[in-house]
Amino acid sequence: MIPFTYERATSPAGAAAAAAKPGAKLIAGGTNLLDLMKLQIETPTHLVDISRLPLDQITETAGGGLRIGALVRNSDLAADPRIRSRYAVLSRALLAGASAQLRNKATTGGNLLQRTRCSYFYDTTKPCNKRQPGSGCAALAGLNRNNAVLGGSDHCIATNPSDMAVAMRVLDAEIEVIDGIGRTRRIPVAEFHRLPGWTPEIETSLKRGEMITAVTLPPPPPGVQLYRKVRDRASYAFALVSVAAIVELRDGRIRSARLAFGGLGTRPWRHEAAEARLAGAAPGAASYEAAAGVLLAEARGHGGNDFKIPLARRTLLAVLGQATIA
Ligand code: SF4
Repeated sequence: MIPFTYERATSPAGAAAAAAKPGAKLIAGGTNLLDLMKLQIETPTHLVDISRLPLDQITETAGGGLRIGALVRNSDLAADPRIRSRYAVLSRALLAGASAQLRNKATTGGNLLQRTRCSYFYDTTKPCNKRQPGSGCAALAGLNRNNAVLGGSDHCIATNPSDMAVAMRVLDAEIEVIDGIGRTRRIPVAEFHRLPGWTPEIETSLKRGEMITAVTLPPPPPGVQLYRKVRDRASYAFALVSVAAIVELRDGRIRSARLAFGGLGTRPWRHEAAEARLAGAAPGAASYEAAAGVLLAEARGHGGNDFKIPLARRTLLAVLGQATIA
């Protein structure tokens, strides 16, 4: 780890202003950043500690939703009775992520900003456009078992590793940010994570000098909420495929369906066309197969991750079957 200076922020806008300076970086739980600093993948010269800012509350919104402070710990968010009863998909996604110890430290804002677990991103002897723009992508022809089959480019096929963000995507969350002079804006989670394109090093639509202050959930949509994660071991592993689903039945048919996926795409992956294929359909394998076909029509494997395409199909079918049990 290279030397760095440290300050403790006293206000959100002050933190954003301090983090806008060259070489500065915000730190809260530190569960991702500290690892990256030890490997010298992140090399900030100044850390702005925001962990003591008053952003750790979950409050009701006037519209019937919840506002989650950026510093609410993942474990506290998963255990909150309002989250468990009204946003079960979010609670389940959180509990599927990381380990209990990490969830006790990791924050809502930090979870949204965690970086990929592509093995070449962490191997500084290998080319990686995300770590070192223009150096190439070792994963394209290398070990890409954990990489994306949707949303990749010729420059990067890294997955977004967050379970929480998949649930927030299916719930249509909004992210609140503040800049160094106190201006705020809201970013739909659909627009927060970027596709890699030519610039995989730019991962979100946050501007330099902006800091996440909260995430707002709209009122919970009707229907059964499920989160299923397929991974190499039962805990403390990133998703090979995960599915967040909210399915509403009425009069024996699927009235509406929302579907988001982890482990498949280069960002938390929502698929409205697959959802539309289910709306109004009769529950059953034919409808689920049709939706899976729409989801995976543009999926592209790179050898080691080809298995994710049939795995995603089977996982989606299982989740839809569970959601529509009469
Ligand atoms: Fe780097 Fe992305 Fe290629 Fe992985 S997939 S080596 S993160 S450029």
